[in-house]
Amino acid sequence: MTHGFDTLQIHAGARPDPATGARQTPIYQTTAYVFRDADHAAALFNLQEVGFIYSRLTNPTVAVLQERVATLEGGAGAVCCSSGHAAQLMALFPLMAPGRNVVVSTRLYGGTVTQFSQTIKRFGWEAKFVDFDDQAAVAAAIDDDTRAIFCESIANPGGYVTDLDAIAKISDDAGLPLIVDNTTATPYLCRPIEHGATLVVHSMTKYLTGNGTVTGGVVVDSGKFDWSASDKFPSLSAPEPAYHGLTFHETFGPLAFTFHGIAIGLRDLGMTLNPQAAHYTLMGIETLSLRMQRHVENAQKVAAWLEQHDAVESVTYAGLPSSPYAERAARICPKGASALFTIALKGGYDACVKMVESVEIFSHVANLGDTRSLIIHSASTTHRQLSPDQQKAAGAAPEVVRLSIGIEDADDLIADLDQALKAATA
Ligand SMILES: *Cc1c(COP(=O)(O)O)cnc(C)c1O
Repeated sequence: MTHGFDTLQIHAGARPDPATGARQTPIYQTTAYVFRDADHAAALFNLQEVGFIYSRLTNPTVAVLQERVATLEGGAGAVCCSSGHAAQLMALFPLMAPGRNVVVSTRLYGGTVTQFSQTIKRFGWEAKFVDFDDQAAVAAAIDDDTRAIFCESIANPGGYVTDLDAIAKISDDAGLPLIVDNTTATPYLCRPIEHGATLVVHSMTKYLTGNGTVTGGVVVDSGKFDWSASDKFPSLSAPEPAYHGLTFHETFGPLAFTFHGIAIGLRDLGMTLNPQAAHYTLMGIETLSLRMQRHVENAQKVAAWLEQHDAVESVTYAGLPSSPYAERAARICPKGASALFTIALKGGYDACVKMVESVEIFSHVANLGDTRSLIIHSASTTHRQLSPDQQKAAGAAPEVVRLSIGIEDADDLIADLDQALKAATA
């Protein structure tokens, strides 16, 4: 990185608009782009020249966002898509095939557990769920058909920290790419590529946009994986019939995965981010570090207060000195453990329901990473589709409430939780 994070979050990927000098990145609200002539069109369609054809594949506003996130994550390139879930499919798509599997953490966002345990089966893909704190079990789950390892850096909903260095060593030894969902941490708090991740995915819906206005996702490629080292990744290492036998890895080197994501992934799966959404996310990222500092500061205060509360059985925040993840958090996300965690209430399921119905500043919503503080009872909402065992493994047991601490005044948040806990235990 040549410049600091605060500089890059404002400038990376952007330059004054060449046509007008506009300082802020314009919203290029256009579907198609005029070719200079027939040769230019042919070169673009053959991937011999990089440019704009049609906004399902590339758009100048989206391109700025791609470069911005790739830079902040320390990656070689990035592909934006329409949601975090789309990003996960776009990350897996070039690696997987019918009969192949991905080894994934049991501690994942509830929607991801459902996507991986149910929906991807329709493609003939399988996810093998393992406790990623049990490294021997992760290694043992890998077989000849495994094509990737998947985990979250700071896992939703509990805020548990994954030992990315240890997991990267396992994936390296097996010659497999490690995919890390960095949604909860953001690149300000954690840079998974520095800990050995191959690909980083985000739901930009959360902290990157930061204010609950868009749905978006992104896949960042480190550019460091050797796709040709084995015959396991033919989408990247073997000739591609849809582009006259072009081989992505040989042709594009460290940008192979990114080019494949655009030229095949977006072209044929069509999970494209629109330029309006890209604009909102770019605006959000300009203040990412400032917001995350306040999110962390507030989460520290609120979590420490909750830990002392009589109605609270336990608090999972990895930023607390009492957390079993405190040492790991200092290594993986030294600037803070984000602002997402759960609390278990002594009053169980009923107290949780009363609490989410009694808050006034906190909003009862299925979202996280908003400037606003949010609360949800995962077992009756986001993790509702999961079996009781899956709920427990994911940190979403019936007596557990998830909090996403916003950037309001911490004292007001504490006062709100205090009155809600009183109502819940009355
Ligand atoms: C929200 C979320 C997703 C899914 O993102 P969408 O933008 O809602 O599709 C994936 N992973 C994590 C950790 C999330 O919080």
